[in-house]
Amino acid sequence: MTSDCLFCRIVAGEIPATVVHETDTTLAFRDIAPKAPVHVLVIPKAHHTDVVEIAKADPALAGQVLAACAAVAEAEGLPEGGFRVIFNVGRNAGQEVFHVHAHVLGGGPLGPMVAA
Ligand code: 5GP
Ligand code: ZN
Repeated sequence: MTSDCLFCRIVAGEIPATVVHETDTTLAFRDIAPKAPVHVLVIPKAHHTDVVEIAKADPALAGQVLAACAAVAEAEGLPEGGFRVIFNVGRNAGQEVFHVHAHVLGGGPLGPMVAA
């Protein structure tokens, strides 16, 4: 728990979120500013800054985050139409929250993979 981390505070219940999936080690909740009809953020409950750091520090937990992404996609009915999973890392990707999170996006056409 990092007290100045937004997503640690959501895990701690200090900031409300619309939770759609939870395991012992992961939490998934709807993005506050959705970029697609379905836009869910999937995080480990433990604080890790980004996908590179968690992959090195705790690859088993990184796998649990991916499994949670798959469970969310199935629960939201996304696999049939297709969907996207994004981990932003650092400045060029525009990462804003430095607690690793997967964006699970779907529910309609998602457009080009990156802005032109
Ligand atoms: P990043 O740019 O770091 O990959 O994505 C951060 C995401 O967190 C953004 O899509 C943003 O809308 C979302 N976000 C920021 N603050 C909150 C919040 O307080 N609650 C929720 N549910 N999402 C948030
Ligand atoms: Zn955190």
